[in-house]
Amino acid sequence: MPPIRIPRSQDDETKFDLDSEVLHELKEKAIAAKGVAYCPYSHFRVGCALLTEDETIITGANVECASYNVGTCAERCALAKAVTEGHTKFKAVAVSTDITPPASPCGMCRQFIREFCPLQMPVFMYDRDGNYVVKTLEELLPMSFGPEDLRRGDGRGEL
Ligand SMILES: [Zn+2]
Repeated sequence: MPPIRIPRSQDDETKFDLDSEVLHELKEKAIAAKGVAYCPYSHFRVGCALLTEDETIITGANVECASYNVGTCAERCALAKAVTEGHTKFKAVAVSTDITPPASPCGMCRQFIREFCPLQMPVFMYDRDGNYVVKTLEELLPMSFGPEDLRRGDGRGEL
């Protein structure tokens, strides 16, 4: 099914309880983050911006490697930066690429986002022109496995 393109609208900001200026800044930073991508092999730039609970914005970009499998995606780059700087609660994720319709986070990143973010959190995906599709994390990763699942049962998996 092709993604549904949704123009930037007040509805989405209201739906997700995000301030329009903050969302605009998140978008601009996700787009700007593409500029620091290290992608000499794929030439596929990805920028990511995370909105933390205290409304700090943390960015990341994809970082490739000559041993291809070792590279990392923009989303995991940004999350690793954020977590190691003490941010573990997030209100939104924005991802930007140079294609249209916009790309969505890969499966590995969806699971990594799931580790730290609520299922109803919005993931904004921007295309080359700044248009976006927005989905909740749960829509991107239905019936997911997360940290709380390890706390169920006999408790041996308690964190
Ligand atoms: Zn990824």
